[in-house]
Amino acid sequence: MLKIFNTMTREKEEFKPIIPNEVHMYVCGPTVYNYIHIGNARSIVAFDTVRRYLEFLGYKVKFVSNFTDVDDKMIKEANREGITVPEVADRFIKAFYEDIDAINVQRATINPRATDNIPEIIDFIKDLVAKDYAYESQGDVFYRARKFKHYGELSDQNIDQLVEGASEHVGDAEFAKKQDPIDFALWKKAKPGEIKWDSPWGEGRPGWHIECSVMSTKYLGDTFDIHGGGQDLEFPHHENEIAQSEAKTGQKFVNYWMHNGFVTVENNEKMSKSLGNFVTVHDLVKKTDPQVLRFFLSSTHYRRPLEYSQSNLQKAADNLNKIKTAYNNLKFRLDGATDDDDADIKAQVIKIETDFKTAMNDDFNVQNGLTEIFNLVSLANNYAASETVAEIPANVILKAMVDLTSILGVKLDDQKDLSDEIQKMVDERDQARADKDFATSDKLRDQLKDMGVILEDTPQGTRWHIND
Ligand SMILES: [Zn+2]
Repeated sequence: MLKIFNTMTREKEEFKPIIPNEVHMYVCGPTVYNYIHIGNARSIVAFDTVRRYLEFLGYKVKFVSNFTDVDDKMIKEANREGITVPEVADRFIKAFYEDIDAINVQRATINPRATDNIPEIIDFIKDLVAKDYAYESQGDVFYRARKFKHYGELSDQNIDQLVEGASEHVGDAEFAKKQDPIDFALWKKAKPGEIKWDSPWGEGRPGWHIECSVMSTKYLGDTFDIHGGGQDLEFPHHENEIAQSEAKTGQKFVNYWMHNGFVTVENNEKMSKSLGNFVTVHDLVKKTDPQVLRFFLSSTHYRRPLEYSQSNLQKAADNLNKIKTAYNNLKFRLDGATDDDDADIKAQVIKIETDFKTAMNDDFNVQNGLTEIFNLVSLANNYAASETVAEIPANVILKAMVDLTSILGVKLDDQKDLSDEIQKMVDERDQARADKDFATSDKLRDQLKDMGVILEDTPQGTRWHIND
């Protein structure tokens, strides 16, 4: 039984989807004015891992994640470069896909763009105005937060705390237009020269919070199963999404709220664009194996802080290498394996898979899940070192390794084509040595070394693995 920690109730709850065997899930996507940094990637990877595990359990997952393609940052970037807001969006959406593909994140079922949903956003706001949950003020439209009786529940704040928090913004231009300091913008009047759309309140553009309420309910229904995002989005963004959506539909918006922890750098400082201490995925994948980066991001529990450092990246590389080496060594033994079966090996694999599920069913506890993956690695290593290897149990181990590690986004089969090529070179080297043609065997050894291949001569023949 899968349990998920629900931010709303602050408890681990049994997961029951609305539609049996199907999960409707929404994750707040990026504002596309720059390359994504490791903090963004952590959230993307965390929810990709959640999705992969749900699919492993047999659920069909409808996964929606938006692109915020109009806001102050987008306008600023377009002005800085002297191009249009849609041009900025197109460029960084393309880069976003390149980056997530590199770290093996599955594409969302739908990636809606805010600017493709302006009529729906206007209709949603009109509805809130009609219900007196929103009001127009000097061309802006604000949400009457105090009127929504559950306001503050997600972030566990009462009205006094919210008012005190809002008082920090007393000098903002928007502040004077609000009837109440805790109200927030649904529609923003366009400043001269800014990108704009016509609306019943004059020319302007949507606020950030409203787009998620509109696009999530449009594609997933008034009530859906899981809503995810970074923990910095709990307040105000998700609080506001709830207020908007529930005021409009009269239904519960989301059954399970999930929030991932921050990425920290040295001294526990949060990585963020505003602090200027961020590393983009675009830059990092040029010097770090993207698979290592993916494994680093997915191998810490999603709610815990993740410390970004060279030594932690190296640890991830070493662990990933152990998994890949065990996999490749056992695969190597398939050549010449017997037709026997081995009930004991199969039973051990089933136990490991069961324990892995128990770990992951506890709010996606990947740390304990990894312990089971390393039990599988030990089993693979021991079996690969045994005198005779049988094909059926070896394949059972190999398949379990692929299945469990793929939930963390690892592609063990990725080296297939390269494997064939390397194996051919290794065989040629063996033949050259047997023929005492040491010039050829040395040349092949050096070529393999340049490819990062480590050779190991064993009684069963030459084994190899790739040194990451
Ligand atoms: Zn959102």
